[in-house]
Amino acid sequence: MIILLPCRVVAFLLLSPLLMGDLVNAEVTTMRRAQMLMGTLVMVTAVGGDEPTAQRAAADALKEIRRLEERLSTWMATSELSQVNAAAGREPVKISRDTLEVLTRSLEVARLTDGGFNIAVGPAVQAWSVTERSDIPSREQLARLLPLVDLTALELDDAKETAFLKRAGMRVDVGGIGKGFAADRAVEAMRAAGATAGVVTLSGDIKTFGPMPDGTAFLFGIQHPRKESALLATIELHDEAISTAGDYERFFERNGVRYHHILDPRTLQPARECQSVTVIAKEGVMADGLDTGIFVMGPQRGMELVERLPDVEAVIVDRDGHILVSSGLQHRLKLIDSTNR
Ligand code: ADP
Ligand code: MG
Repeated sequence: MIILLPCRVVAFLLLSPLLMGDLVNAEVTTMRRAQMLMGTLVMVTAVGGDEPTAQRAAADALKEIRRLEERLSTWMATSELSQVNAAAGREPVKISRDTLEVLTRSLEVARLTDGGFNIAVGPAVQAWSVTERSDIPSREQLARLLPLVDLTALELDDAKETAFLKRAGMRVDVGGIGKGFAADRAVEAMRAAGATAGVVTLSGDIKTFGPMPDGTAFLFGIQHPRKESALLATIELHDEAISTAGDYERFFERNGVRYHHILDPRTLQPARECQSVTVIAKEGVMADGLDTGIFVMGPQRGMELVERLPDVEAVIVDRDGHILVSSGLQHRLKLIDSTNR
């Protein structure tokens, strides 16, 4: 039997007064808005000195995410990335600075993760289409796609502002990094509008900034990868981004094997070393890119990378359910349910 389980939403905002609606007191106003964007429910909370400021900040954040979606989406045929993909093997395509930056940062994360993160997996993501069908692509089909998953054939020209996929059939997909990038930009938009604090949540990608009106910190829950409504741990965030990649988010099972949406670029099969990877970083783009890349690298090499990088921390649940916590989180993370079953 084939079961398709679309269990999304990995992060919870806990105990924060921000969850309790729009709060108004003598000094600050808090505004919350939500909208479907980038294929997920996006929630924005803005704290401002007065109501119009908080309103504008929340609206600007959503507007910024929508603007980026129109450039980066691979579902919209008109997006810049769709145009780059359509011109693969033919010609360079003029792109905006935003798209250029996402692609450049994607290459940076690819280098850091030894190719674990690779946005050229697009053709394989399409072949699996785990969210729509539950067909398992044949080995031959994946072997044919493998030469297309080659980032050296992505040519970026910073001066001309173009991107070129040199081989026909190549396809870039920024699903593993775009939401974190958008969270960074949404926070910038809120700050520019005068907000003093806020939080942006795009499914499992969250970014916070500024002090809460009541002095409390943002408390987040990390989803248990094998217990649908249980928390693995909680953590307080201070001007940070958090992102989780998990094999429980989008998957199907066949003959007891779990097939999910994070692919190992070397085999084009779902990566098997982890159940979930949560990364905390200053930038959402790093947290999001790294969670996917580290998921592929596996717990040991992944944690070594985290320890080498400044301002990056992680919680990794390996394939057997063991929990690895980076050194900088040892005193910050509160484990809630670390049992495996
Ligand atoms: P989400 O929060 O949407 O689950 P993730 O950060 O977990 O996103 O990344 C998963 C998405 O990244 C996949 O849906 C696919 O589009 C893309 N992807 C899959 N494997 C890789 C990979 N090895 N490198 C980069 N992107 C990938
Ligand atoms: Mg990611």
